[in-house]
Amino acid sequence: MAVATDREYGLFIDGELVEPASGELRDLAEPATGDPLGRAAMAGPDDVDRAVAAARGALSGPWGKTGPTERSRLLHALADAVVANRKELAELETRNVGKAIASVKAEVAVAEQNFRFFASVLGSLAGRSHPVGGSLLYYSLREPVGVCAQIVPWNYPVMMTAWKLAPALAAGCTVVLKPDPATPLSALRIAELAAEVGIPNGVVNIVPGDGPTTGAYLVGHPGVDKVSFTGSTRSGSEVMKLASDPVKRLSLELGGKSPNLIFADAKLEDAIPSSAYAIYYSAGQSCDARSRVLVEESVYDEVVAGLAEAAGKVKVGDPLDPETQMGSLISDVHRGKVHGFVEEGVSEGAEVVAGGEPGNGGGAFYPPTVLAKVENRMVVAQEEIFGPVVVAIPFADEKEAIALANDSRYGLVATVWSQDPARGHRVAARLKAGTVGVNMPYSAFPGIPFGGYKQSGFGRETGLETLDLYTESKGVILQTGPKPVNPFGL
Ligand code: NAD
Repeated sequence: MAVATDREYGLFIDGELVEPASGELRDLAEPATGDPLGRAAMAGPDDVDRAVAAARGALSGPWGKTGPTERSRLLHALADAVVANRKELAELETRNVGKAIASVKAEVAVAEQNFRFFASVLGSLAGRSHPVGGSLLYYSLREPVGVCAQIVPWNYPVMMTAWKLAPALAAGCTVVLKPDPATPLSALRIAELAAEVGIPNGVVNIVPGDGPTTGAYLVGHPGVDKVSFTGSTRSGSEVMKLASDPVKRLSLELGGKSPNLIFADAKLEDAIPSSAYAIYYSAGQSCDARSRVLVEESVYDEVVAGLAEAAGKVKVGDPLDPETQMGSLISDVHRGKVHGFVEEGVSEGAEVVAGGEPGNGGGAFYPPTVLAKVENRMVVAQEEIFGPVVVAIPFADEKEAIALANDSRYGLVATVWSQDPARGHRVAARLKAGTVGVNMPYSAFPGIPFGGYKQSGFGRETGLETLDLYTESKGVILQTGPKPVNPFGL
């Protein structure tokens, strides 16, 4: 499939691209230029019904009898297909999302590694045996949960699709995945590749559509056994209600306002550029963006000046240029929201020391921005801006740094910069976050669990424990003696 502006993209149901029963085709545009990028079908309730029926049917078809060795082979084949098509996937995603292609290439590589990781570890899906006592023997079986509704946001479509599909397929489940309506292209392409490598029809279904209608209908669907949602905390709260009737298994990966603690004893020449990377990567449109920089008072001015200088050096521009470090935001509307936060910060007393003006050019660009003189109670320190905006907040000592870091409804990731190893461990232990990095800016790797504390959600993705989210444990208790246990003596 070539990237073509006149392309119409169907839904992916039961092994093929199909026209939507809804009849709705929506125009897509490249966020960085406003140029048209084809039209994508949007799923309505009838389409979701059809996709769920296909997923249910696949569970009782050949896929349901596929053993771990074959599932592992298919997932490795899908990883190979991602590698073989990586250039096309990266370009498609870059055009659709507006992010720098250098970043997107890395995300496609992570997608491949994620399929690879679950292909490799699914053999560890084993039960255990236990001598209960007397003549009884217990053993457990791990069975697929069933049909999974998976909902992903627009900020990492290809990577999130792999994060969701890989563990579900490894466990033997089937999937109906709903991408964001603005960014469905890479998920559709991954589904095509899944079919090409031989994953049976109905195992992977893709139904783009709006959240409050298509997404809500899918989450509440009685044919769905498990819901895995990635998105904002507000939507996650809604999904939690919808998934409760009828009761479904649920995991949520939600928002963040992640702190980045820079102590005076940190190696500032590493801490400052890495902190800039940790906010401006993906133009700040990352759940794990370290958007709250907490700085020890004695180095506050130096760090703020360093961040402002780094912000000015980030190469912002054409997302398809391999030299570009930061592309556009997802849309003009989103850019307006980001700028609204900056204006609100200024009205609360923050000072713009870099960026802060949207500019007049075309495309949804926003410059790397640093806000100083921020207090943790301000809206810009508490709300997820989801753009290239970092706030810098001073702290007096370690105790206050930890208190400020934890003074947030979120708890996704955190980073600590200090050359004192004992402090690194001590602070990491006291931060309420799913992942804490010490002296490095990364937070997610295939194989390492990723997920949040507090209102950043629950359940962990990309790690071994993710398989628990997609399996039921069934206990079997066996009488091994000559006479059945019969306490009534009947
Ligand atoms: P969003 O919640 O608006 O949308 C996310 C997805 O959920 C979309 O596909 C949307 O259509 C769907 N949706 C929205 N309301 C729904 C409903 N009521 N029922 C079912 N589906 C619904 O979020 P967004 O703005 O698109 O994405 C950004 C958010 O995602 C940020 O808060 C970010 O932190 C979060 N995120 C979290 C992680 C993580 O791993 N924790 C990763 C990426 C993004």
